[in-house]
Amino acid sequence: AKGMGKGDWQRYQSDLAHAMVQRLEMRTQLHEAIEGEQFMLQFQPIVELADQRVTGVEALVRWQHPTRGLLGPFHFVEAAEESGAIVGIGNWVLRQALRQIADWKAADPATTLRYVSVNVSPRQFRSPDFVEQVRAALAGAGARPEWLLLEITESLVLKDADKVIRDLRALRAMGVRIAIDDFGTGYSSLSYLRQMPVDVLKLDKSFIDDILTSRQQHALVDAIVTLAGNLDLAVVAEGIEEAGQRIALDTMGCDYGQGYHFARPLWPADIPALTASAQPA
Ligand code: C2E
Ligand code: CA
Ligand code: CA
Ligand code: CA
Repeated sequence: AKGMGKGDWQRYQSDLAHAMVQRLEMRTQLHEAIEGEQFMLQFQPIVELADQRVTGVEALVRWQHPTRGLLGPFHFVEAAEESGAIVGIGNWVLRQALRQIADWKAADPATTLRYVSVNVSPRQFRSPDFVEQVRAALAGAGARPEWLLLEITESLVLKDADKVIRDLRALRAMGVRIAIDDFGTGYSSLSYLRQMPVDVLKLDKSFIDDILTSRQQHALVDAIVTLAGNLDLAVVAEGIEEAGQRIALDTMGCDYGQGYHFARPLWPADIPALTASAQPA
């Protein structure tokens, strides 16, 4: 490039080589992580806005890296999606999340917890036996299909829409529910919704952030909530950080919420206290 001296060029070359080595290392490490059971799940409560009861939890993957400590998905999900490791990781997440909810249900038959929500990456959804993986994971955990909500993204439907819609129908026919994650950040949006066999819209945090400060943003979210209601879709508002947002969303008729205002992602041991039905008033 212009203005690049010989030293710059050499440094650039070695940075590039370094980045490549890091990528390869990450691939090997992700592979070892699956074998070595280095992944763990945290669970973030999803609450009913009307009474703040915890009726669901979203499973969020973490990687206990041998040298770098506990890593959030930001550090590895993209690399895993690129290398294909996400398929193995995602299937582990699915099985583990279902085992976990089966345990919680068994330990407390009166739990307020109705379902666990599991993120499914596009690559995982498109893997040839995904529907079978779900069936096997349910059977293996002794979990009922109603206990599972699968979170997919809008971008999934942009390619092979027919096949995707067929698989979504097969999953729903089993009794599994489907959510569109990060709704509003993708391309498809409202017009797609009619043809998509889904049950739940998860409204992205970026929509929620400004509802108290921007009239336009408030009006937009209000309109989406109304439209979703007319289409028989439940709405989960993501990233609620303050009481004012909860109250505004509840007033709009939004049924569910998730965010630091209610709870951060938690380790499994912390969930039962939040879902015991005899909550002290
Ligand atoms: P997501 O599906 O949108 O998950 C919600 C993310 O927002 C979580 O981050 C959660 O900790 C964070 N969050 C929740 N409430 C609040 C809030 O009030 N304020 C703020 N600032 N953040 C909040 P996390 O756990 O780092 O996950 C990031 C993303 O990684 C997820 O975004 C999801 O796309 C992906 N991910 C997580 N687990 C899995 C998995 O098992 N499989 C796949 N394919 N992707 C996953
Ligand atoms: Ca999600
Ligand atoms: Ca989301
Ligand atoms: Ca998001």
